[in-house]
Amino acid sequence: MSQERRYSFEFFPAKTEAGHEKLLNTARQLATYKPDFFSCTYGAGGSTRDRTLNTVLQLDGEVKIPTAPHLSCVGDSKAELRELLGLYKSAGIQRIVALRGDLPSGMGMASGELRYANELVSFIREETGDHFHIEIAAYPEMHPQARNFEADLANFVRKAKAGANSAMTQYFFNADSYFYFVERVRKMGVDIPVVPGIMPITNYSKLARFSDACGAEIPRWVRKQLESYGDDAESIRAYGEQVISEMCERLLQGGAPGLHFYTLNQAEPSLAIWNNLKLPR
Ligand SMILES: Cc1cc2nc3c(=O)[nH]c(=O)nc-3n(C[C@H](O)[C@H](O)[C@H](O)COP(=O)(O)OP(=O)(O)OC[C@H]3O[C@@H](n4cnc5c(N)ncnc54)[C@H](O)[C@@H]3O)c2cc1C
Repeated sequence: MSQERRYSFEFFPAKTEAGHEKLLNTARQLATYKPDFFSCTYGAGGSTRDRTLNTVLQLDGEVKIPTAPHLSCVGDSKAELRELLGLYKSAGIQRIVALRGDLPSGMGMASGELRYANELVSFIREETGDHFHIEIAAYPEMHPQARNFEADLANFVRKAKAGANSAMTQYFFNADSYFYFVERVRKMGVDIPVVPGIMPITNYSKLARFSDACGAEIPRWVRKQLESYGDDAESIRAYGEQVISEMCERLLQGGAPGLHFYTLNQAEPSLAIWNNLKLPR
């Protein structure tokens, strides 16, 4: 296995004290697997500003895994973004996930000064030079609001060339879409690592809703199989684990430079895949 591969786990900031305790327990368990980093999402418009900041500082400082805050630009002013960047920089945070974000429904139109993630990447570089390793988002199956696939590729390339160091993808269930995306952006002169984002399958109805919204296609053969299990959560879990483990194996064999797990603040589903793949510990 290549030494350069990197493995990471993503969390979302919890809303309650109990949720935060659960997140910390999950993070401590995942930390024993020595991932390269954790990341923590950010509610566009600043809705999780303090919770993301506190979670990142605690995971980084106490759980002792380097932790990357996500930062999104819609709905935040340049002054607010500058302040957060300063706080992270002075706390020794070295990696940041730069996004446009999606404003939660009801928050109206975006009011930030930066409209797209490529502008945020440029802003971070202008403000902080080379201090941060900047991650950006990639969409092998196309961002749902893009005009078409080619336009989305061009936007990705512009965002990468604005100064990103690597990318993490939206989750997908079709390895070929990932390989095709990487092949295309390489031909367009982008050579940064593009790490597949992995969503373990645990709850089918939630997954189907979420996948519709974010444009991730659940292949018909997977959908039909999952639907046939009805309320049988254990069969859904076991089948999901098998499908995702097999896809990850193919991705790594095909040269993917690592994996980024969307944990949804749970350890077991990601660890089951990690163990099936016999990833390093
Ligand atoms: C790994 C990962 C982590 C994420 N974490 C979070 C999070 O913490 N918080 C959150 O709110 N959301 C998060 N998201 C979701 C993300 O914010 C949404 O998908 C959002 O709609 C797009 O963000 P982006 O950074 O990819 O946007 P962009 O790269 O700005 O693209 C957004 C859309 O605009 C188009 N576009 C880009 N640039 C231009 C341009 N200059 N002119 C015209 N069109 C353009 C693109 O083709 C695309 O359709 C995450 C997504 C991923 C994959």
